[in-house]
Amino acid sequence: MKEPLIRFSNVSFTYAHGQAAGWQALTDVNLEIHEHEFVAVLGRNGSGKSTLAKHVNALLTPTSGRVLVDGLDTSDPEHVWEIRQRVGMVFQNPDNQLVATTVEEDVAFGPENLGIPSAEIRSRVTEALEAVDMLPYRLHPPHRLSGGQKQRVAIAGMISMRPKCIVLDEPTAMLDPAGRREVMRTIQRLNQEEGITVLHITHHMDEVIAADRVVVMDQGRIVLEGSPREVFSQAELLRGLNLDVPQVTDLARRLKNRGLAIPEGVLTVKEMVMQLCPSD
Ligand code: ADP
Ligand code: MG
Repeated sequence: MKEPLIRFSNVSFTYAHGQAAGWQALTDVNLEIHEHEFVAVLGRNGSGKSTLAKHVNALLTPTSGRVLVDGLDTSDPEHVWEIRQRVGMVFQNPDNQLVATTVEEDVAFGPENLGIPSAEIRSRVTEALEAVDMLPYRLHPPHRLSGGQKQRVAIAGMISMRPKCIVLDEPTAMLDPAGRREVMRTIQRLNQEEGITVLHITHHMDEVIAADRVVVMDQGRIVLEGSPREVFSQAELLRGLNLDVPQVTDLARRLKNRGLAIPEGVLTVKEMVMQLCPSD
């Protein structure tokens, strides 16, 4: 099988605290992400998700163990530039990520820093804004956009650098439901149509249903990993970690407890309808 695009091998990370013993935020993490995969990371607050994300583009490097991105060791300072071109990061707060006075200037910012010729930048900006469905807004000031639109512009800013992978650290946490849906649709389209590898960190259960694989973290460790169906069939374990299952999965479990013949691991409304009304 092809080498994974991202490989964490026995990664532990401790935040330094001056002279005092530091806080160990990751413990012995092993994770492989292959090209074109959509991997979601779940876990309660403080479980180490953001620390994990920052290891993918060398914002942090392991205290012990190793992270390889496209074969490049993130601990080697000589690789940082190349790694950051392969991995784009999108954070929670879109306001901290948009800096320019127009949408198109913002999206051009990354490629400009890469020293790309201006004709090429123009075509990349158009392409990136098209990919997130924001081309009509290219001359708008970013601060006037909705939260979902801002986050899509931030994503376009990443795409314009042509990364192989985007890491999104709770990109929908500050958005309303409509904004969340817009951003999720955009991420899924980039994954499916452009083949961009996605590492999506969230605490919204419904955002991981479409993932190829779900990784659940707790206290700096990966405690569960599998397809969404496999992970959400572990309802007891998830509850113990203070995580829910998707609403539909929970409904299925309750109906099953009431004696209805419904299998474990129903994830979507469509599947539920199939179970309840097979003839429809
Ligand atoms: P999550 O993103 O899942 O909420 P984080 O990766 O942000 O978790 O944090 C994991 C643990 O590391 C938490 O206990 C947090 O308090 C601690 N931590 C995070 N950032 C720092 C930091 N800059 N300095 C010290 N401890 C930190
Ligand atoms: Mg976090």
